[in-house]
Amino acid sequence: MISPLLPTYARIDIAFEKGEGAWLTAADGQRYLDFGGGIAVASLGYAHPHLIEALTEQGKKIWHTSNLFRIPEGERLAQRLIDASFADTVFFTNSGAEAMECAIKMARKYQSANGHPEKYRIITFEGAFHGRTLATIAAGGNQKYIDGFGPKVEGFDQVPFGDHEALKAAIGPETGAILIEPIQGEGGIRPVPSQCLRGLRELCDEHGLLLIFDEVQTGVGRTGKLFAGELSGVTPDIMAVAKGIGGGFPLGACMATEEAAKGMTTGTHGTTYGGNPLAMAVGNAVLDVVLAPGFLDHVRQTGLLLKQRLAELQDKHPKIVELVRGEGLMLGVKLRVNNGDFAAAARAEHLLVIPAGDNVVRLLPPLVITEDEALEAVKRLDAACARMEATMQDGAKA
Ligand SMILES: *Cc1c(COP(=O)(O)O)cnc(C)c1O
Repeated sequence: MISPLLPTYARIDIAFEKGEGAWLTAADGQRYLDFGGGIAVASLGYAHPHLIEALTEQGKKIWHTSNLFRIPEGERLAQRLIDASFADTVFFTNSGAEAMECAIKMARKYQSANGHPEKYRIITFEGAFHGRTLATIAAGGNQKYIDGFGPKVEGFDQVPFGDHEALKAAIGPETGAILIEPIQGEGGIRPVPSQCLRGLRELCDEHGLLLIFDEVQTGVGRTGKLFAGELSGVTPDIMAVAKGIGGGFPLGACMATEEAAKGMTTGTHGTTYGGNPLAMAVGNAVLDVVLAPGFLDHVRQTGLLLKQRLAELQDKHPKIVELVRGEGLMLGVKLRVNNGDFAAAARAEHLLVIPAGDNVVRLLPPLVITEDEALEAVKRLDAACARMEATMQDGAKA
């Protein structure tokens, strides 16, 4: 018999009842150190007092009005994002995939408004993930997500990760944009080298293409910069953000330059919920914390410490850990053992990590973790490595 919840997830048999900071307590009272952050969402951890206050205060006033009316908190959040980035304008959504949909539609509309409706194609990269809507599965190109869902949405040309020649060859008269995650998240924490991002910017400028960054996972402080693009100094024309920006409240944003957004005139796009007062109150509260002086320095320092200690783990357990990569508190540990098995071993040590592509487990802890919590996680990962080594020895004996 089918489960009440559509069985599209193989769920782990733990239900969390409450959380505080980076710690989660399950229904059976067991405590876990959460280095998954609900997939890079719980940027300020659980039960952050400033978020609780913003949510409850707004909750008492008004939750929703629709976008038929002005939403002052939304105007304020948009202006703050604009002031802190390349963007001139923002469209709020409820999720990452919707922010990406807006980005894709905007790129097509831009070319069309410029008299080039034929330039609707977008170049994307193997290993990418952009969401689960019909257009974003086509953009991501993962066959597992595409199969059986009817004709693939037209207009996406995927090239191998890091293959410059293939990229150049893929640009044709119908190409309108290039879409990339500055660090692939689901693909296994694969950073795009800065010179590649700069090369993409140059190619786009040369061919009249828009550069779209998918910063749904990398954005809002995750890498120690407000946006990961800043690490290379490259600015996109359009950028999708979600996950961390709501700190657990469903919120996304499509940010753009005035030029890139010029086709998106009244009536061309919409959302009923997107940017409602409740979401905007929480989004502003997240920014209060992330933009406070010293916060991003803390992310960089804690990330650096974590990365150094993970490198030591690699030296100590060469049969388990192949390499460590990533930026800030978006780190990937590529394994020589199965990543799902490793995540289970970490869970047995009451540490949560998240498997990703390329046989990686991702560490995406709340950005507010302390150095002690970072070291505690390494201790538990060390113990998880020992568990894996023990099972390997058992296997060898058998
Ligand atoms: C999670 C993610 C998405 C999709 O976001 P949803 O909120 O699940 O729709 C898109 N792009 C990237 C890079 C992501 O990590």
